[in-house]
Amino acid sequence: MLKEYKKKRNFRNTPEPSGRKQRAGKQLRFVVQRHDATRLHYDFRLELDGVLKSWAVPKGPSMNSADKRLAVHVEDHPVDYIDFAGIIPEGNYGAGVVQVWDHGYYIPVNAEIEPITEKEALKWLKNGELKFVIKGSKLSGEFVFVRLKRDEKNWLLIKHNDEFAVKTKYDAEKLIKGKSKKEIFEKGAGNLAVWNSDRPAKSAAKKSPVRKTAKAATKKPAPRKAATKTAVKKTAKPVKKAVAKSTRKTATKRVYAGKKTR
Ligand code: MN
Repeated sequence: MLKEYKKKRNFRNTPEPSGRKQRAGKQLRFVVQRHDATRLHYDFRLELDGVLKSWAVPKGPSMNSADKRLAVHVEDHPVDYIDFAGIIPEGNYGAGVVQVWDHGYYIPVNAEIEPITEKEALKWLKNGELKFVIKGSKLSGEFVFVRLKRDEKNWLLIKHNDEFAVKTKYDAEKLIKGKSKKEIFEKGAGNLAVWNSDRPAKSAAKKSPVRKTAKAATKKPAPRKAATKTAVKKTAKPVKKAVAKSTRKTATKRVYAGKKTR
């Protein structure tokens, strides 16, 4: 599955990960990378089936449900790519600056917005339509990728008109913090340090206080790292419940379980 990805790149000359197929953690992740290459575009990647299913979105994603953003299906990327940010040197495939524009979790869902398994999601993808509920810093709620014509690479990325959708003009470019190339190069890879101990885990810990282990209880204050780890484990359980119950609300609720505001 990563054959095409590897064929296009010489890993001696690019800082991009060579990567391999990887099993997903308890929650599926997504990333949107702003890629200032020959043509500026946003790479939208969903962790699925051990790789990152990827689309290049020239205009970037939109939170306005009236927008239909062209999304060109591109080769699968290794999961390691999810926190890649940096400069791909001239002469290499995709040469230019890559920065993380948004990241977070997502749940693949069916037509009724009920959570589905990765296997089912692959089937939907193959049939040219994949709905999902997302929780990022910029993107949230229900989205869909719809293929325009069978066997073609052109898809549309559309935001569903849910409570997170906006009515105003949405421009991804206006939402990036100004970073110089040098800064991205130096700090880029560290981008996702924030992401690893991300909000869902933090707030989940707040909501469902984790049982203190003997060790943690003796330390004051409880080490943040340990709390986050436990919280991640805790949040994992509801996934199965959500799948079993699977009401329209469940998927959205579950993604947002951690945080009310965005
Ligand atoms: Mn790209």
